[in-house]
Amino acid sequence: MFESQIDREEMDLENRITSPDFSESDSDVEFSLRPQSLAEYIGQDKAKENLAVYIEAAKKRGEALDHVLLYGPPGLGKTTLSQIIANEMHVNIKVTSGPAIEKPGDLAALLTNLGEGDVLFIDEIHRMSRAVEEVLYPAMEDFALDIIIGKGPSARSIRLDLKKFTLVGATTRAGQLTAPLRDRFGVLLRLELYTPEQLCSIILRSAGILEIPCSKDGAMELARRSRGTPRIANRLLKRVRDFAQVIGDGTITKEIVSTALERLEVDELGLDNIDRRLLTMMIRNYNGGPVGLETIAAVLGEESVTIEDVYEPYLMQLGFLARTPRGRCVTPLAYRHLGIDRPDGQQML
Ligand code: ADP
Repeated sequence: MFESQIDREEMDLENRITSPDFSESDSDVEFSLRPQSLAEYIGQDKAKENLAVYIEAAKKRGEALDHVLLYGPPGLGKTTLSQIIANEMHVNIKVTSGPAIEKPGDLAALLTNLGEGDVLFIDEIHRMSRAVEEVLYPAMEDFALDIIIGKGPSARSIRLDLKKFTLVGATTRAGQLTAPLRDRFGVLLRLELYTPEQLCSIILRSAGILEIPCSKDGAMELARRSRGTPRIANRLLKRVRDFAQVIGDGTITKEIVSTALERLEVDELGLDNIDRRLLTMMIRNYNGGPVGLETIAAVLGEESVTIEDVYEPYLMQLGFLARTPRGRCVTPLAYRHLGIDRPDGQQML
């Protein structure tokens, strides 16, 4: 079978356990697992240190915090951080998302309801419509809304003052934002994939909150397979708990993690069927690349932005995939991991 015939259903992308996107099954614990303060928020040291300084300074001046743009792949803690900002500033937060704000009037209603210093969090801010975005410019810059009253020659514009608020925007890539919007953020923070050690701390913290017995090496083994993403780490923790209760004595150990994740078809580096198919498709059909992003997306039946935001960051962090000007290439490390010989016949060690 040519790999382009793989259909979506067979790959079951929506229910992928290793997807960093939020799914309904996460909702039961996601709230309780969210760190509430900067001190509780593990990793992202650079972003955290900068933010701590800006928060402290804004509080000393008695002003609202500058607008903050958080960017990075899904599941890394952008929503969590926006709530922490509100907590640390002792203000209220309103949460919405780009696609949810349909009309300029929807945004105006949100903005006029904000109190002094409050946080407005807009997730997926790059998906806001142009008309809505234009309302945001004077709101961010001058804390004002320009409202047009009437139509035709008698139409006039009135300016409505808003309370000084903080906009926290989240996006998977800052490059997706229009320049005028990006320029209006005073603070730009990029979130990075987490190291296994940081994820291990997150898993042990979550296990403590959920009262799941988990050994240190069990947590580390889970961490190594969580694709640098806390949301995936927490999801795998919940799944592995079931295995620990059924095939063990309830405690998550390294052995239980290995057995459980083998059954869930997540390998020792956290790759699942889709990653392996992506890489083997590139190797078998395109000699390992270069392959254009659009081609990969068409073969996998996915949007190219999803390939870029969801699959590639981790494969690139592992050093399995390289972006070149002519397209994506599979690296020798990936050949070795998959146990496939290189095209030049070289046996990988
Ligand atoms: P995003 O908005 O970037 O998609 P979220 O903020 O919703 O990600 O985070 C997903 C989950 O991961 C949250 O439930 C939270 O418990 C956990 N999480 C994220 N970042 C951290 C962190 N630094 N420390 C501990 N848990 C975290």
